[in-house]
Order: sequence, then C-alpha cells, then structure tokens
Amino acid sequence: MAVYYYGVESFKKVFGPKGEVKQCSFCHQSYQETYVKFNKWGHLDYIPLIYLGADYYHFCPVCFNGDKFVKEGKKEAKRIVKDKTPATTNLVPRGIHHASSKTYDLILEDKNSGQTFPIGTNMKKSDYKALKKSRFYKKIEEVEM
Ligand SMILES: [Zn+2]
Repeated sequence: MAVYYYGVESFKKVFGPKGEVKQCSFCHQSYQETYVKFNKWGHLDYIPLIYLGADYYHFCPVCFNGDKFVKEGKKEAKRIVKDKTPATTNLVPRGIHHASSKTYDLILEDKNSGQTFPIGTNMKKSDYKALKKSRFYKKIEEVEM
C-alpha cells in the first residue's frame, strides 16, 4: 500500500522597495516597502500539482512590521509589484562579524542619507542567520571586525 502526502507549499518571491513611501506605524521610519508574494501550491508527495493562488504581504524595510493584503489591497499589491518605477529607497543590509566574540550584528544602511539602523546586535551565528532569513535577505555584504 502506497502512502501519499498531500499538503500546501508556499513559494515566495520578494519585491521591493516598491510603491509609495509610507511611514511605518511601528518604527515611524518612512520608506518604500518590501512586498512578498507567496504562491501557494497543493502538492502530492511534494510535487506541486494545483495552483491555489497567491497571498501578498508588505513589510516595513526597517523593523519588518508587516501585514497581509486582503480584498482591494490585494489588487493594489499585484499592481505595485509589477510597477517598474525605479526605487527611491536604498536600504542595504550588512552583516558585521565580531571574530573575537564570535558574534554578529545586522545593520541596515540608508545609502541616501547615510543613516544606519541596528537590526540585531551581538547575536550568535544561528540567530543572525535566522534573522536574515526572516527578512528574506539572501547574500549580503559581511565585514569582519
Ligand atoms: Zn517599521
């Protein structure tokens, strides 16, 4: 007897900075936001079979406070992620590896204003990696100190 596993898997696509500059209600910084589209697939034995649509989320690029778009907002999100207008927000994540204490900092640098935002400091490597992943960062510049 064969056993099949059915489930729903999400495949994410990250966009941004996109859309209007918005002031975050949480950290009060004003930037264009990060948009994330999750394509949902029903899978059988981990082979995607049925497309179940997409969910859209938007996040503040500084504190990553975010929300899911629903109803009319979802249409708007679809439009924004396709918009090719060049971004004005230029926030670059950077890692700092403190070799002596084996800890990591994650900072964001605003390339326009020169302002930096500490996102996490004195983290263990595993926490640093998890934080990067939670923010959908892939390869970022890392410096050793
Ligand atoms: Zn924020």
